[in-house]
Amino acid sequence: MLTTLKRIVQEVNQIPVLDDALSCLANRLIEALKVDSCSIYLADYEQQYFMLVATQGLAKAAVGQVSIGFSEGLVGLIGQREEPLNISDAQRHPRFKHYPEVQEDNYHAFLGAPIIHQRKVLGVLTLQQQHKRRFSEDEEAFLVTLAMQLAVEIANAKARGSINLLQENIPKYWQKSLKGVPGSSGLASGVGYLQNIMMSIHSHVPKRSKNQQVQVQNYRQAVKQTQADMAVLSERMQGEVPDDVRAIFQLYYHLLDANSLGRDVEKEIKAGWDAPTSLKMVVESYIRQFQAMNDPYMRERAVDVEDMGNRVLANILGITADKSVKREIPEHCILIAEEVTAVMLAEFPNEKLMGIVSMRGSNNSHAAIMARAMGVPAVMGLSNIPIALLNEKEILLDGYTGDVIVSPNVTIRHEFDQLVLEEQLLSERIHSEDTLPAVTTDNCEIRLFTNAGLSLETEKNDNPHSDGVGLFRTEIPFMMRERFPTEHEQVELYRGLLEAEPNKPFTMRTLDVGGDKPLPYFPISEENPFLGWRGIRLTLDHPEIFLVQIRAMLRASIGLENLNIMLPMITSVSEVSEAKRLIRQAFYEVEEEAREQGESLHMPKIGVMLEVPAVLYQLPQLSKIVDFFSVGSNDLTQYLLAVDRNNARVANLYDSYHPAVLSALHTIAKHSDLLQVPVTVCGELAGEPGGVVLLLAMGYRKLSMNNHNLLKVKWIVRNIHRGNAEQLLAKVLTLNNPQDVREEINLYLESVGLGGLVRAGI
Ligand code: PEP
Ligand code: MG
Repeated sequence: MLTTLKRIVQEVNQIPVLDDALSCLANRLIEALKVDSCSIYLADYEQQYFMLVATQGLAKAAVGQVSIGFSEGLVGLIGQREEPLNISDAQRHPRFKHYPEVQEDNYHAFLGAPIIHQRKVLGVLTLQQQHKRRFSEDEEAFLVTLAMQLAVEIANAKARGSINLLQENIPKYWQKSLKGVPGSSGLASGVGYLQNIMMSIHSHVPKRSKNQQVQVQNYRQAVKQTQADMAVLSERMQGEVPDDVRAIFQLYYHLLDANSLGRDVEKEIKAGWDAPTSLKMVVESYIRQFQAMNDPYMRERAVDVEDMGNRVLANILGITADKSVKREIPEHCILIAEEVTAVMLAEFPNEKLMGIVSMRGSNNSHAAIMARAMGVPAVMGLSNIPIALLNEKEILLDGYTGDVIVSPNVTIRHEFDQLVLEEQLLSERIHSEDTLPAVTTDNCEIRLFTNAGLSLETEKNDNPHSDGVGLFRTEIPFMMRERFPTEHEQVELYRGLLEAEPNKPFTMRTLDVGGDKPLPYFPISEENPFLGWRGIRLTLDHPEIFLVQIRAMLRASIGLENLNIMLPMITSVSEVSEAKRLIRQAFYEVEEEAREQGESLHMPKIGVMLEVPAVLYQLPQLSKIVDFFSVGSNDLTQYLLAVDRNNARVANLYDSYHPAVLSALHTIAKHSDLLQVPVTVCGELAGEPGGVVLLLAMGYRKLSMNNHNLLKVKWIVRNIHRGNAEQLLAKVLTLNNPQDVREEINLYLESVGLGGLVRAGI
């Protein structure tokens, strides 16, 4: 069975267009299971029905014509119950509904399985047989397994936009709102700009064409162009590269010859596909042939065939052969990328960046944190959306809810503009009180610090409204280079930062790479990077890197007294002891140097991030060897809930309002107080309206957030009453799930006039 399953899935996967693949699947299933009919229905949630999209055994004319309502017939029943249905005589079942067009009068035995992807029923797969019998348990299990695999394919195909039924230029559902994960609050509108469009035959969305002549012409012209490009390249490389590399150009030449690739591509064009799709089909089949070869040298050539395919594709589409599109960035731009990275954002022209849509990532991936730091609304994790279709479209983005509206109509646009206006008004009001103190209505003072380091250009470290820097992430300067920065380079950078406001504390965190922050020049390949070699684990294993950084921090602080050093990802007391030993070693070295210059070196305060749950049980021990704690609620949430903060598939499970996270935060506040260790919260929760209220109620008096949120947080503090916040905390601590907590908090915020901070409009 397993071999059959694998064979079928493999064969079906190789067909680029979903409805062709589904037809093939129906055929193969009939052969493999010796049944009389196999059909596939796909759900259309807008119309609330299942459409017959492929069949072998039912009337072919019914494909694309017969739809079965979500609450109708046996197919509807499978969708409703989300489980297989196995009956010996379908026609006698009370839910059986007769659809004359499908011509199933002769069939009795019926087995159907839902096709479910991420809890959503995408369709139904059915088998039918003329004689009455119950399908065996093996057959049922086989169908369920197949439906599960099919679900992923269908979801991916939808993502590629290749379901023909939906493909009339832009599918209807594109007019509506798409749902992602809120990444950075705020509203934004602009033109979609797809970063790095790669011309790849694999990601090309198949299309049919009626105009065969034009398609053949396009194809032939593109081949000529590619051959000319190759000749130039080959000429240029003469003498510079070994002969076997140049031999690859010969291979390209040979393949591009009209008698091999050309003949096959033109055959596909005649079958009704456009030139790029025909090319895709043929090149992908060549790649498979090369990959299956015994000779390792020939197997390797699959990559070259793919590269050549990409080049021809780029030429067909009239795009330069370096495969990337050099386009003007629109004035009001919504940046779209498969995965928006922190470096990508750092390099993007800020003045044009209105919003961000990242297909991957989640609420607390570093790209989202950076978007918040820049004050740019962002939506993350739209993973199943055909990304290319957002390019150059007008886009409205709601970073509060995660909604993305593509090509809005006039009414929606008008309403949206109104909300943007209201958001601006609120922001003006908040700014008008920027010099007032951060004190609650019942006189509880909160100290507000800033998080910095994610974007050196956009974040000013001398914010007159902040009490200092509560977290400086040192990773980005490391990530933006092609090698580790030298000690001197680090000293220069850190000195500038410490000097900007010498009378305010500045907390520098030692290097926290690993996880979703890899260094381009020090790749780490791990199965579970967030549970792997990250933060202090990596730097303690490489004291040469740690010591250089600490020395740089200390040298930068000569003559100043505002440096605090913070250690990330602490799991054990021994890590702190070891780090402190190295810090002391560096201190004595630098102190001597300072003395020689007639300067003094102040021993910085040393603290740890509380972000790995293990430290919750070691607070007394830690309190004896550190000067302060800082709660990293981002990682604490990730590790307490065992939810990857970067994985869109589980984004809905990542929630700092989870009762376990709230309870952990509460415990830390109480223990830090008892142990008399100063504590700050520097995770994203400290910059969120609801988080501010709860943290304050728990007893936290120091919060650190991005610059952009600082005045908002101050506004919140000034508008709440500590006593009321404590009542709210007592109530939410009795709740069982994060959604209820959020609702309760939002009700409270609305009641004190702060609703405009958690949703669009005032
Ligand atoms: C955290 O984990 O809460 C934190 C502040 O650190 P980072 O987001 O950089 O991991
Ligand atoms: Mg962290």
